[in-house]
Amino acid sequence: RIRPQSNKRCAVIGGSGFLGRHLVEKLLDRGYSVSVFDIRQSSELPGVSFHQGDLCDQQALLPALKDVSLVFHCASPAPASDDRALFERVNIQGTQTVLRACMEAGVQKLVLTSSASVVFEGTDIKNGREDLPYAKKPIDYYTQTKIVQEKLVLEACDKQKGFLTVAIRPHGIFGPGDPQLVPILVDTARRGKMKVIIGDGSNLVDFTFVENVVHGHILAAERLRPDSPICGKPYHITNDEPVRF
Ligand code: NAD
Repeated sequence: RIRPQSNKRCAVIGGSGFLGRHLVEKLLDRGYSVSVFDIRQSSELPGVSFHQGDLCDQQALLPALKDVSLVFHCASPAPASDDRALFERVNIQGTQTVLRACMEAGVQKLVLTSSASVVFEGTDIKNGREDLPYAKKPIDYYTQTKIVQEKLVLEACDKQKGFLTVAIRPHGIFGPGDPQLVPILVDTARRGKMKVIIGDGSNLVDFTFVENVVHGHILAAERLRPDSPICGKPYHITNDEPVRF
């Protein structure tokens, strides 16, 4: 068996989650060797080394990042919890811990799953670009902490130190295994609570198929090189043509 090249070793923090799991499967397909770090284990995937722990614990993170050159950070408490202290602990302090652990372990690239809501101020955005300012009044605590998290990660991008970062901003993600979006919609409809339309029924919301979100993450990771214009930048991600790798 050919040993995977060192630059094909990666870790997925939050790899037991909805997006993380799809990301891990696609990375394996593409020949990466993957370690998963998560506070909970989902069903095992062959060939994946699993590390259970809280990302706020640097010592727990380090074994998962050993000999890894690329890290995806897609862990977060669920937005629906609306637990301010938890969001601050995991998304802000936890992300600082992830950054320190990456430095200590010699990780070279970090891809963050951010959120399109970081630029949403409550008024309509159509074809919103990445140069929109961060929301001054974020819609909830979750978004408030996603803004701080994204800034921390992008500001940590340092070509001199050989540490490169990028952030991917999806809006709603749907697809197999989705624990929130579609199940909550269906449940609300079943309980007869979807009888009101706000506006004239022509409102648009951006939903992206999970495999397209995964595609965006992997493209970003593979393009993240010192000479690349994507270093330290956020990217909105949405659906387009079906994806072929
Ligand atoms: P998810 O809840 O399915 O997965 C998140 C994972 O993070 C879970 O497996 C959870 O156990 C893990 N986690 C949470 N706290 C942790 C901690 N302290 N230490 C270690 N692991 C921890 O959520 P998802 O929908 O897959 O979301 C993934 C990322 O995408 C998140 O960063 C989220 O903010 C972002 N996002 C999601 C959507 C969406 O519609 N699902 C939209 C925009 C952005």
